[in-house]
Amino acid sequence: MTTAPILAHRMSRIKPSATMAISAKAERLRAAGKNIINLSIGEPDFDTPDHIKKAAIAAIEAGYTKYTAVEGITPLKQAIVDKLARENHLIYQDNQVIVSCGAKHSLYNLFSALLNDGDEVIIPAPYWTSYPDMVLLTDGKPVIVETHLPQKFKMTPQQLEKVITPKTKLLILNSPSNPTGMAYTSSELAALGEVLLAHSNVMIASDDIYEHQLWHTPPFVSIVNACPALYDRTIVINGISKTYAMTGWRIGYAAGPKLIIDAMKKAQSQSTSSPNSIAQYAAVAALTGDQTCVRDMTVAYRARHDYLIGELQKISGIQCFPSDGTFYTFPAICGLYNHEKGITNDLTLADYLLDKAEIAVVPGSAFGAQHHIRLCYTTSMENLVEAVARLKRLF
Ligand code: PMP
Ligand code: GLU
Repeated sequence: MTTAPILAHRMSRIKPSATMAISAKAERLRAAGKNIINLSIGEPDFDTPDHIKKAAIAAIEAGYTKYTAVEGITPLKQAIVDKLARENHLIYQDNQVIVSCGAKHSLYNLFSALLNDGDEVIIPAPYWTSYPDMVLLTDGKPVIVETHLPQKFKMTPQQLEKVITPKTKLLILNSPSNPTGMAYTSSELAALGEVLLAHSNVMIASDDIYEHQLWHTPPFVSIVNACPALYDRTIVINGISKTYAMTGWRIGYAAGPKLIIDAMKKAQSQSTSSPNSIAQYAAVAALTGDQTCVRDMTVAYRARHDYLIGELQKISGIQCFPSDGTFYTFPAICGLYNHEKGITNDLTLADYLLDKAEIAVVPGSAFGAQHHIRLCYTTSMENLVEAVARLKRLF
């Protein structure tokens, strides 16, 4: 083989997704006979509701097994338009919507459509692990804004103002947040909106994928609800993975200005052609069917949150606060360093937990915040009780 570099330069800019890699490692250990409790991957443990599965089976039997329109089937786009109006008070035409292979692919399409070489993308940290890498893969430059526990991991308007430059193209907001579980209030979003209104070069990606995993009422607000003047500069990203326990069906969507959605369609037409036809019919059933399943799952996540945070707070060395939603908690763990020789950071602690307690977690560094770990409570209460017992034995 030639000694010249074979791979494209862009591959050296990025790393594999930490959440996917750690979960795969946990599954390998489990297959090898270890009693692993996997608190790493953000994937609902519930089964996809029956009425949604039945819609998929009906789609197969009806022969809906061919390519679809690039941007998705008309009934699904309509269901998304209706959902955004009904639940989010956001009005879109169906030509302002694109369905993709998961919200992850919607984001990737968006970055491909928007970013020129070196365009800056503001990403508040802790962030979902894939944002910076996807930005790098599409030639953008991530600009990370660090936030900390005392500010509930929420970016302030002053922090935002400070990092905006003439090269800023996009801001990514994710509320409630993966990995912190914290959600911006309407007034906090309005204050960020004030800053953004003064900088017309900045577009906003509002990643609303955890909108339903929220404990308090009134429910979810996005930046466009808080600051309607940003409607023309915002691309709403959402999907069915988390809300309907459908991670493997790979359906997500984006809604926003037609010019941008058209460019995303162009990118999609040259990559995946269309999302999976059968999953699209299942997504129609998810969005238009009975929503009791969504409420039931959120009630279960909330009970797990209350239990887990309560117990973590009792372990000396772990600093953990209740969150607003999602199914993640993001405690600070520097108090556990040097518990045993060699535990000096979040990476070595995560390894130690996997080795000694057989608990898989994701180190905070993967989310741009070392000295933390992310625990995902998409597992049964029995498993959480066992995980807590193992942690208490260990520390
Ligand atoms: N955004 C955030 C914040 C996420 O945590 C995830 C996790 N999967 C996604 C987007 C992508 O979800 P999906 O591709 O399964 O729709
Ligand atoms: N978003 C989930 C997580 O953070 C799923 C895996 C992924 O695509 O990152 O664990």
